[in-house]
Amino acid sequence: MWRWGVELLYRNYSRYFQVMIKIMQIPFDSKLSSRTTLWEATSAPGPELNALEGNFKADVAVIGAGIAGLSTALHLAEAGCSVIVIEAEAPGSGATGASGGLLAPDFIKHSPDDIENMLGQDWGKRLIRMVGTSTRQCFDLIEKHKISCDARQDGFWCPAHDMAVASRLKTRATEWRDRGYDVDFISSEKTQSELGSPHYCGSIYFSEGGAINPLAFSRGLAEAVIKQGADIYVNSPVLNLEQHLGGWRVSTENGVVDAKRVVLAANGGNAALHPAMRKTVLPLSVFEYATRPLSAADRARVLPNGGSFTDKQSYMFTARYDGEGRVIAALPDFFVKRSTSTIIKEASQRLLRHFPEMEDVSIEYLWKGTCMLNASLLPKIYDLNDGAYAIQACNGRGLANNVVLGKELAASLIHQDMNLLSVKAEAPRKVNGYFLAKYIPSMMMAFAYVRQ
Ligand SMILES: Cc1cc2nc3c(=O)[nH]c(=O)nc-3n(C[C@H](O)[C@H](O)[C@H](O)COP(=O)(O)OP(=O)(O)OC[C@H]3O[C@@H](n4cnc5c(N)ncnc54)[C@H](O)[C@@H]3O)c2cc1C
Repeated sequence: MWRWGVELLYRNYSRYFQVMIKIMQIPFDSKLSSRTTLWEATSAPGPELNALEGNFKADVAVIGAGIAGLSTALHLAEAGCSVIVIEAEAPGSGATGASGGLLAPDFIKHSPDDIENMLGQDWGKRLIRMVGTSTRQCFDLIEKHKISCDARQDGFWCPAHDMAVASRLKTRATEWRDRGYDVDFISSEKTQSELGSPHYCGSIYFSEGGAINPLAFSRGLAEAVIKQGADIYVNSPVLNLEQHLGGWRVSTENGVVDAKRVVLAANGGNAALHPAMRKTVLPLSVFEYATRPLSAADRARVLPNGGSFTDKQSYMFTARYDGEGRVIAALPDFFVKRSTSTIIKEASQRLLRHFPEMEDVSIEYLWKGTCMLNASLLPKIYDLNDGAYAIQACNGRGLANNVVLGKELAASLIHQDMNLLSVKAEAPRKVNGYFLAKYIPSMMMAFAYVRQ
């Protein structure tokens, strides 16, 4: 009787037993508790840069050398404008260098029809065009400046975990296709074989999506900025920003930049630079992790044809490869403090849940970054008056969008025409009830974690 019971359990739940055994075998590597990202460990060093010391003048001062600031500076410098970038740490050291590096030409939440309904025909169409072409523009920029950043335009998938979501994604694919974009709805069977996961029942596929090494991209952009004759100063947190003689004075501990105009591209740091930017974004911490390079057998099981994906679950899962065959995935953080070993177990467990055939789910790198979410989840450019502008477009999917916003803001400043933007430049709006609202993204992740 007892043996029969065990046999029955094993027959029905053998998959779970195997998963449990695999998880118990995962080695815990104490090096993982360090903050080194995969990108820091595998990217070529960036250009040698100095801290800001002394007094300088420029047409435009750009604060922050993430993807937004560097794209703005590059396009300004290319047009012959004198630019100085002032960065607290180093190029790509913020959200950009902590990101997963997936490039997705889609909105994180809305469909193209939603956008037109919300923003109206003119601004709606502009934003859809911007997001729909964002990855293309990003890969073109990489090609133009010959940036070595493991760029691969091998497609982006957004899979559905239930039929209701699949049906919404089908409609969304039609909306993109009707507007001329190469976007398809993919059947359940094909999604499962393309992703190597039995977890999903259909997906939306963007052929122009892909992935990059985001830190190598930032460092390559920094090189390009310098080649165009602009200056970047590092290890120079901006301590004060004030109006001065009809322009702006940017002060660091040991230096000052006077500029006619200023672009705040400091992401979460924007709030400390200008009072109007306070309480405008909501933080969400996310762990990124990377496995050891997979064996040939595991590579044939996980995303066998390449590409990358982020699913539609609230407690989202995402996967892609790096150039050496590691799988990179993500895990949202929330209030409950979890030890590094707990997070690693969970990370491996999630890999096995999504790719049950994987043999080796050892984690080699684990790091954390903070996404800054706009309440609308849409990219924003803020007009702070008197020649000061801010780019605020993280939303966990800001790499390609920020490249385009930087390019467009540069063109608008050069031609002094804000109508060249795809995003209407407006005054920032504080989030209502910010004291509590700032915890909402983490709270939603905690609920999603419990419900998964
Ligand atoms: C964990 C994580 C995963 C993500 N994954 C993806 C993804 O796969 N795909 C995607 O599209 N997006 C992703 N994102 C979002 C994406 O990384 C961001 O949208 C994008 O990098 C933001 O670029 P940015 O230049 O605006 O900001 P940042 O990269 O944060 O750059 C801002 C810079 O400003 C500097 N700074 C701050 N304050 C000051 C100051 N006072 N003085 C001077 N400098 C200052 C910072 O040091 C930093 O270098 C992810 C984000 C995170 C956190």
